[in-house]
Amino acid sequence: MTITGAINLDEKRSMASSTSRQEERSKEVGAVFDAVVVGAGFAGLYMLHRLRGLGFTARVYEAGGGVGGTWYWNRYPGARCDVESMQYSFSFSEELDQQWDWSEKYAPQPEILSYANHVADRFELRPHIRFDTRVTAATFDATAKCWLIETDRGDQVSAKFCIMAVGCLSAANRPPFKDIEAFRGPIYHTGEWPHDGVDFTALRVGVIGTGSSAIQSIPIIAQQASSLTVFQRTATYSVPAWNQKLTPEYRKTIKADYPALRAKARARPTGFYFPFNMKPALEATAEERERQYEEAWERGGLPFLGAFGDLLFEKAANDTIAEFARRKIREIVRDPATAELLCPDNVFGCKRLCVDTGYFEAYNLPHVKLVDVSKTPIERFTADGIVVDATEYPLDAVVCATGFAAMTGSFDRIRITGRNGLALSEKWRAGPRAYLGVASAGFPNFFTITGPGSPSVLASMIQAIEQHVDWMVDCMAHLRDLGADTLEPLQRYEDEWIEHVNEVSKVSLRSTCSSWYVGANIPGRPRVFMPYIGGFPVYVQKCNEVMSNGFEGFVIDGADINNEAPKVRLTERWRVPLDIDVISPAAVAARRVPVV
Ligand code: FAD
Ligand code: NAP
Repeated sequence: MTITGAINLDEKRSMASSTSRQEERSKEVGAVFDAVVVGAGFAGLYMLHRLRGLGFTARVYEAGGGVGGTWYWNRYPGARCDVESMQYSFSFSEELDQQWDWSEKYAPQPEILSYANHVADRFELRPHIRFDTRVTAATFDATAKCWLIETDRGDQVSAKFCIMAVGCLSAANRPPFKDIEAFRGPIYHTGEWPHDGVDFTALRVGVIGTGSSAIQSIPIIAQQASSLTVFQRTATYSVPAWNQKLTPEYRKTIKADYPALRAKARARPTGFYFPFNMKPALEATAEERERQYEEAWERGGLPFLGAFGDLLFEKAANDTIAEFARRKIREIVRDPATAELLCPDNVFGCKRLCVDTGYFEAYNLPHVKLVDVSKTPIERFTADGIVVDATEYPLDAVVCATGFAAMTGSFDRIRITGRNGLALSEKWRAGPRAYLGVASAGFPNFFTITGPGSPSVLASMIQAIEQHVDWMVDCMAHLRDLGADTLEPLQRYEDEWIEHVNEVSKVSLRSTCSSWYVGANIPGRPRVFMPYIGGFPVYVQKCNEVMSNGFEGFVIDGADINNEAPKVRLTERWRVPLDIDVISPAAVAARRVPVV
């Protein structure tokens, strides 16, 4: 059986569920589960699948009307993945890998959503999920040793484990622009896009932001709108996607040895595989660099950063790739003043690198205008548009491509209370703190999938999700084997891990700019580098060691025997040797591990 990604029944079902009004249901009060999972994106779906597989009872709550998370919410024109689809997909089921056919190198959002729906149906997950339901509070009851979960639909249930699958990029950032309510036209956010789509034909449209979401949507909005004004605070580096249809032959070649590709991906710092060059840019001649950058540009996408081994570690090396990228912008954009405005001057790849189809080319259209708001910010909205530097730009519709309160935003929106009344928001006030990014001291039996302090957004996220879920479920099964009540990190281990996360981030140039990785995109957020940048396989090895040592650094409470070696159930597939050519300790020490 082959299942084509190009829209099918799953998609129709998803559209129906996502556009329907809140499903009628009575509130659930007093129910008891082994685990409550918050969120039904890829993380929540896979967690539910694994929990059920090991005989745990679980309830999933999802604020949206359907599964898919990111791909449920981000329906803006042009939305698609930027990790190749043959890798940006679950790897846990060989049958799924074999039977699902991706249609393009980078699948569009409807197809990824269709895939999420297919997974939900194939593994019979839907009956365990309550949609249109936002978890508002999670409180640890130290006497009963369980979590009490409350929702905005009046549910009050309890569970031994509380699992956050809330997403790293799921809390939309809507900047409080002055007089925004005065604007007469519609205002959209890319991360909360209307399900019926938006027709911009003959409208004067404004787009605020030039990150990945803007870069993907601008070329398409430009085709429809009568005029398009882009408000740019920071210019963005972007590499062409060179997206294309996947041929049956290509898919067949990959599928002939899919497990090998998956294994190679797991051994890479990014959790996905692409060829890269370990040689330092500064050891190459100018001609060699030029040739290498040209070739990498022609391959396109995020692997462009793998052109040389030192690009994210040596500023002088980074300058060479940055200058190459700026030259490309000047070659593409015909108006020299616009081209200069579009040329970033920060470290290449410091903010998340963008991948585009026709982004810079869009500025050659006569009706597309770029407005610099770096020195003179958006002053205010009026009924008819946006004012910058005393000039009013008349608009019929505005798109906020203004991103997310990344990594912790969705945690902030839930009242989470651990032992002794400790509020997570309070504990994380100066920045998130968690041991291995999976659990936080003071919050027993509380897990954070792709939480801050883990590779998460610096890796291909579906791989990061699978590794976390496998590890966490093995951990829960271990507690069950022991007959234990709770597991919780020791403060000392958590502190040491955070120190390590901070130390490692300093070796990378990524820690040097005002990106959402450090919370700098939103005023008032603490400035700390949140994801773990030491590389996916190094991190996985650390998690494996912690497990092998009987969950070293955690306190297990309520069991007679504590030091029994955990049974490795799901994590076996993560016990792969490090790809020594790429990530040998020497390479790490020499700071030559490319990170995307
Ligand atoms: P999400 O998909 O964000 O799902 C979290 C879910 O939790 C959401 O549905 C949300 O509604 C729900 N939720 C949150 N709070 C609550 C609450 N209180 N109560 C109930 N439900 C709640 N990563 C890549 O690796 N490659 C890519 O190409 C890529 N492309 C991306 C493109 C876009 C436009 C965006 C925004 C992100 C992209 N990412 C990509 C990152 C992407 O978020 C992850 O790949 C992945 O989809 C995350 O899955 P998740 O389940 O962890 O989180
Ligand atoms: P983003 O990268 O944070 O970009 C937001 C943009 O809005 C930035 O240009 C930002 O400027 C601007 N902005 C924010 N507040 C502003 C204000 N008050 N005034 C003017 N401009 C303002 O968000 P995103 O584009 O949604 O992407 C977020 C992440 O999601 C990406 O980095 C990526 O990980 C993922 N994503 C991936 C894809 C993909 O290609 N697969 C697509 C979309 C998203 P500053 O830079 O100055 O802050």
